Amino acid sequence: MNGLMMDMPLTITSIMNFANKVHGDQEVVSVTADNPLHRCTYRQLFSRARQLANALKSLGAEQGDCIATLAWNDHRHIELYYGISSSGMICHTINPRLFEEQLEYIINHAEDQWVFVDLMFVPLLEKLQDKLPGVKGFVVLTGESHMPNTNLRNAHCYETLIAAESDQFEFPELDENQASALCYTSGTTGNPKGVLYSHRSTVLHCYAAALPDVFNISVNDTMMPIVPMFHVNGWGNAYSCFMIGAKMVLPGPKMGDGETLCNLINREKVNKSAGVPTIWMALLQYLETSGESVPSLESLVVGGAACPVSIMKAFEEKHNVWMHNAWGMTEMSPLGTFNSLSTAQKQLPEEELDIIRQKAGRPIFGVDMKIVDANDKELPWDGESSGAVKVRGPWITNRYFKAEESNLDADGWFETGDVATIDSSSFMNITDRTKDVIKSGGEWISSIELENCAVDHPQVTEAAVVGISHPRWTERPLLLVIPQEPGSISAAEMLAWFDGKVASWWIPSDVVFVESLPHTATGKLSKKDIREEFKHHQWTE
Ligand code: AMP
Repeated sequence: MNGLMMDMPLTITSIMNFANKVHGDQEVVSVTADNPLHRCTYRQLFSRARQLANALKSLGAEQGDCIATLAWNDHRHIELYYGISSSGMICHTINPRLFEEQLEYIINHAEDQWVFVDLMFVPLLEKLQDKLPGVKGFVVLTGESHMPNTNLRNAHCYETLIAAESDQFEFPELDENQASALCYTSGTTGNPKGVLYSHRSTVLHCYAAALPDVFNISVNDTMMPIVPMFHVNGWGNAYSCFMIGAKMVLPGPKMGDGETLCNLINREKVNKSAGVPTIWMALLQYLETSGESVPSLESLVVGGAACPVSIMKAFEEKHNVWMHNAWGMTEMSPLGTFNSLSTAQKQLPEEELDIIRQKAGRPIFGVDMKIVDANDKELPWDGESSGAVKVRGPWITNRYFKAEESNLDADGWFETGDVATIDSSSFMNITDRTKDVIKSGGEWISSIELENCAVDHPQVTEAAVVGISHPRWTERPLLLVIPQEPGSISAAEMLAWFDGKVASWWIPSDVVFVESLPHTATGKLSKKDIREEFKHHQWTE
């Protein structure tokens, strides 16, 4: 027997309509390329989203079309998120940091009809446009006074385009399983792959993201999401904050600038924020050099890559800000686990607490998780057994965009490519990517653990560890270090730092000091490039 409940589709339109009706007076503050401080209410923002929906119709866009954005975190990008998806079109957010060939590939692969582009990325598209035959035109995200003299074909000015339209729009009734947004993930091999989110997956993820042991968003919060909205829906903040009615502060192109972040936090009384480790390092460095403080700030979420414990402790000890580690991926919308400590865990001695706070945390309801060995046998959650992480759930991909085949295993699990342990409190600890694990003498060495240990050294700015072939051990870890100052630390001192901190056979066999390390478009260390560069490394005895 079925339950006797209404069958209302879970759609992004419903988040917008609810936020407009219930929290219409709440504020969104943005830094944009053409305005250092833009302020509007939810009501004004959604009124513009309806003008945009009319404009899309006037441009001839139809349900099911992919509409691309190359944009920073600001109010216009939010208008695009809601105006496009609620019109039954697919909001394809593009990472402008991708290589040009990748941009060309994904715009053509997605068959984007229109590209909405931030002022700063106009030159990039001017160069590429001849290779994008399917794009009907470009809309520059600015007003007339800042509109560049561009040779982009069929170029429109966003403000002029929407100003010509009514703010009345009847959004279509959508099936909750309809596609809402598209984000490509640049794997280390092959072409980027598209992850196609649905309205339903987005709304379910949005509920989960707001929970107290996840982002813990309240109507009283002022949230500053620094995760780019072009990367996995900005970790869902652009949906969850509106569902809850929180004030939003969006740093636009200034997201990596410690001074702007500090000023925004203090002026707008930001109490929560989320971003990748490099953002927090930039803010911390600014606070340290300027002597400024951020008294309103209570907690930060860090994810996307491992965060050194020294950063977490500096925020807590110097600024009374607690950092939560979170793990996920593009294929998971992205949230998978979140580190929110129990009262008992918080009372543990400092050394134990330092270990736990660095972990990626517990699975969130909606994400079923397991770790398996090389034979796909499930491993215990004992904090010791390390295996490949597999997941399943309603906001996890089952097939890449336009792929012929499912990306799941025979039992319906998605293999994340991460390797982890899970302890008896269900806290996951990412130890590596499957392809980055170092196999030395038949045993596994975690490159992430060695990197975490290296960056805790006060003279180390950044570190990477890769497995390089070794005549005796098959592979040995090679440590690459960017020192704070050239020559500020010797190789022997660096390697001695690991003594007593990791198993002796894990200690890197060599260290090379470098000026820079290669990163991917999403800011992660590009281990593939590092391995390639150092594949002929001569081990010193
Ligand atoms: P992306 O799809 O670009 O967001 O990348 C997802 C990958 O980033 C994951 O599979 C992990 O390898 C890595 N990652 C995400 N969050 C964390 C974290 N908290 N700690 C370590 N690695 C992470």
